[in-house]
Amino acid sequence: MTNPEILARLARVRGIMFDIDGCLVISDGPSGQGGSVLPGAKEAIDQARATGRTVCVFTNGSAQKPEDIAQLLRDFGLDVRDEEVLTPAVVAAEVMKERFGNKPLLVFGGEGVLHDFHKRGLNVVDLESAFAGTPTNAAAVVIGWDIDFGRAKLQIAAEAIVGGAELFCTSDAPMFASHERLNVGVSGFIVTGLAHVTGVPYSILGKPSTEAMDVVSRVLGASPQEILVIGDDINLESAMARRAGALAGLVLTGTSTLARLAEAPADVAPEIVINSMSELVDMFTEADKAHALTSH
Ligand SMILES: [Mg+2]
Repeated sequence: MTNPEILARLARVRGIMFDIDGCLVISDGPSGQGGSVLPGAKEAIDQARATGRTVCVFTNGSAQKPEDIAQLLRDFGLDVRDEEVLTPAVVAAEVMKERFGNKPLLVFGGEGVLHDFHKRGLNVVDLESAFAGTPTNAAAVVIGWDIDFGRAKLQIAAEAIVGGAELFCTSDAPMFASHERLNVGVSGFIVTGLAHVTGVPYSILGKPSTEAMDVVSRVLGASPQEILVIGDDINLESAMARRAGALAGLVLTGTSTLARLAEAPADVAPEIVINSMSELVDMFTEADKAHALTSH
């Protein structure tokens, strides 16, 4: 039996944000590459749709573009549409457009990062001319999953930051869930180095930022109070949900263990803890049934 207060909150949920790695799938690479689907993941998404709830998935990886992640998830049998896939690159592109308009932006990352900037027609600095010495006049530096970040990029990024550009990164997670190997975070490695050499602090745009939660809320068409955020990382999904007043769920199939859960500060601790997504399905069934009984 689930706590009645939690059941009542679940019954009120209008939209669900699912994390990908360690929540829907477990893999050896970012955003589901080379992985397998976790028990109950498909059923949880299907149930959300069947009960009229909106769905989005949010990975903190920026190695791949949303359309490719959506296809990968569909190949796993998960019912996910292109426009329901969020990455920090999506958030970054939206925030940069809003704050800096057409000002030049120095953006580091592969297609997974650049795609969303180009799609929105943002003014991305040409790196080759910057390497050749053309001043970037960048208003902001955005660090994503850039596996070719060497000295030339470090130089122009640092010059822009010292010259007044604001520093952002998609995610500074040290690592993320995988089958066997440690999966290290590239963006966090770069941005902490840049903060070190310039002495300028950075802002995160992926989970758990308020910017990320704003985009989730918009895509789900629901206010934070009507949203369940579920994932395997207390410091990402739970922290983001709790700060915004959304319902925070933790699934123990990824990075966070019960030991880490016990250490979590009260204001970021998840309100729901489940062993697998199958338990979420059962909880929603129970919640919707209880709600149907009380509302008749
Ligand atoms: Mg995860």
